[in-house]
Amino acid sequence: MKVPLLDLKGQYQSIKKEIDEAVQSVVDSQYFIMGPDVAKLEEEICKYLNCKYAIGVSSGTDALLLALMALDIQPGDEVIVPAYSFFATAGVVARLNAVPVFVDVDPVTFNIDTKQIEKKITNKTKAIIPVHLYGQSAGMDEIILIAEKYSLFVVEDAAQAIGTQYKDGKFAGTIGDIGCFSFFPSKNLGGFGDGGIVTTNNPELEHKMRIMRVHGMEPKYYHKIIGGNFRLDSLQAAVLRVKLPHLDSWSEKRRLNAALYTKYFIEAGLSQATGKISFDANNKVLLPEAVYQNDVHKNHHIYNQFVIRVEKRNELWNFMKKKEIGCEVYYPVPFHRQECFAYLNCVDSEFPVSNDAAENSLALPIYPELTNEQIKYVVDSIAEFMRS
Ligand SMILES: *Cc1c(COP(=O)(O)O)cnc(C)c1O
Repeated sequence: MKVPLLDLKGQYQSIKKEIDEAVQSVVDSQYFIMGPDVAKLEEEICKYLNCKYAIGVSSGTDALLLALMALDIQPGDEVIVPAYSFFATAGVVARLNAVPVFVDVDPVTFNIDTKQIEKKITNKTKAIIPVHLYGQSAGMDEIILIAEKYSLFVVEDAAQAIGTQYKDGKFAGTIGDIGCFSFFPSKNLGGFGDGGIVTTNNPELEHKMRIMRVHGMEPKYYHKIIGGNFRLDSLQAAVLRVKLPHLDSWSEKRRLNAALYTKYFIEAGLSQATGKISFDANNKVLLPEAVYQNDVHKNHHIYNQFVIRVEKRNELWNFMKKKEIGCEVYYPVPFHRQECFAYLNCVDSEFPVSNDAAENSLALPIYPELTNEQIKYVVDSIAEFMRS
């Protein structure tokens, strides 16, 4: 049985007619830049996330870059980021000649370890970028308290977390000063190319980001500040508007798939419970859990990725390739070990959890169209590997 990591064709087939019509209507209008679909998508995203403002942008990376530019992050300013995330989270900081300061992650959620943030704050620290990794919210209560105490901005990297709710029901990306989302095709809400959106409840930041999206221009051809070309295409907005009403049901299906994986792993004797952090004879597979640290409240996890941990990860990954099961490693190299950040002279031993995660994490297929039989086959294959 073949199980791809992602099956975007299946999703397209299920909404083909609506998508084709939406794309054709943009083509007919020939209104490709900042057409009416962009403004409508922004309104619909505000309604969906229950926030005041949303500005469609060219990618999740540009969403983060625009956010930091609007907050006036300057060369030499320090910005705190988790050591374990997709590159963009730290890359945008360095692109502004600011300094990314890495904090290790929590062993259950892989999100920034909030207990370790304060010791990294200096008088140059300007902002914190928590990442809601794999679709689960970081510990926003603790982060907001720290940000208030030291007057720092909070930019949420919610690229993997559109529809994720923090424990009290607030949407990820609407809790800090600015939220950054990606519409990369593999995210829960994916376009037909690159795209992203920034959200905020602050009218000044909204205005600044809106004009910085078009080179800081206001009125036309007059520039008081410098921005860039951070626009979202009309075609992408049209596609995303068709997909948005389906997002919750797709994420719900991902959650059901995660629950099925958990059930099958436990039945196979490979795991006793979710959220375990050390391997033993009864826990050869460590399963993700939708909680934040020791909090009793459950997070609403949308499982952009379902990431397990195993001791012989590379061997298992090769085995899965032979079985035609698509798996991926998010991410094999934490920031403090990236060549491009060697100049930061990080101390490797400060990041034991990130280092472990890079060595033993493996993302399994979790997309909504996955069948129960495919999930069972994935777990059976892992069980077969563990017996060999
Ligand atoms: C995908 C992603 C981004 C970047 O989004 P793009 O749209 O690919 O530029 C940033 N941060 C995280 C955590 C991501 O997963």
